[in-house]
Amino acid sequence: MLNLMVAVLYISDQNMKVMQESALLHYAKVFLVTKNQPTLSQDEVSLVFQEPGIKSGYRVPNRSWCYYLTSMFHVNNETVNIWSHLIGCIIMAYQLYSYACEHDFWTDDRRRVVNIFNMCCVVYTLLSAFAHTIHSKSDHIHYTSFQMDYGGVGLYTYATALVGFYVSCSDEVFYSSVEPFFLPLNTLLAWFSCFSCSLGKLFYSRPYPFKRKLWNLFSVGGHAVLCCFGSLKRYYNCFLDDECSMSSLQHHSVYPMFFFASIFFFSSHLPERLFPGRFDFVGHGHQLFHVFIVITSCLQLYAAESDLNHLNVNFVRTWPTWLHLIMSLAALLILDFLTILFLTPFVRQRIEKDKQH
Ligand SMILES: [Zn+2]
Repeated sequence: MLNLMVAVLYISDQNMKVMQESALLHYAKVFLVTKNQPTLSQDEVSLVFQEPGIKSGYRVPNRSWCYYLTSMFHVNNETVNIWSHLIGCIIMAYQLYSYACEHDFWTDDRRRVVNIFNMCCVVYTLLSAFAHTIHSKSDHIHYTSFQMDYGGVGLYTYATALVGFYVSCSDEVFYSSVEPFFLPLNTLLAWFSCFSCSLGKLFYSRPYPFKRKLWNLFSVGGHAVLCCFGSLKRYYNCFLDDECSMSSLQHHSVYPMFFFASIFFFSSHLPERLFPGRFDFVGHGHQLFHVFIVITSCLQLYAAESDLNHLNVNFVRTWPTWLHLIMSLAALLILDFLTILFLTPFVRQRIEKDKQH
């Protein structure tokens, strides 16, 4: 009897191992075998999905949600777009976790603004990775998911202005003039970034003219002026001060270079425009834009951290409360959500127009 029980246990153990192995094999096939997800050439997909200079690697539209979620583990022209921002999201989330372990996350007035910047970076990279994962499903999903991505762009500009103003501003006149209405102004400008990027995508059809990029650049650029204006005077003051070395401002001089590099690759579609078909999977302009903007965000976090510890200003700074920050962020999210709802009929019109081409 005992022998029989041992034999049964042995067989079930073997069966379990076989089942585990076959389950592993199944998941390996689903996630890793690239031939399961064939891709299409540029001519085989509708105009809305076509990117300049990218000739192949397009995912097949109108498949199941699972197809698009697992597409991140397959080779297509969105794989690096998805992972570049997912990895960025993990890096920023890890930074947030480390700061939360080192400092009092909720009650430290000075750190609150930097924490919000960090959180916004986690969210914008996640929204972008999500948009790139699902946008090929249909024309409507394409437009809606990128409107969410533009909401992420608005969130990033909001967070950048927040640290630029509260942490790095050293100009008392600018600070005291703008501070009473900074949060609502920042919310409105961030919403305008999202709104104008969405309008630019809806009003112009592919191949997009450079004018469409100008919509994006001016809305984000206008916001950037608010971010940087308060800290620009530090360069002027340092220039006049014999004891100040410009290298002390290096942490603010480096990240704009990465930011402009990201804007360059975003708007130029280089290098794939010059070498069509050569950078379909790795190295095209949008991937480079993703990588550079993640590096910019990390350097901005480092610069904010450095200013928090070393910048001495000769005026009293008022730090916003959690309630004020959450209210302004909630207002931004509500405005973005209403914008997506408001633009829904225009998305349908755009899709109809795209079909006529
Ligand atoms: Zn993107």
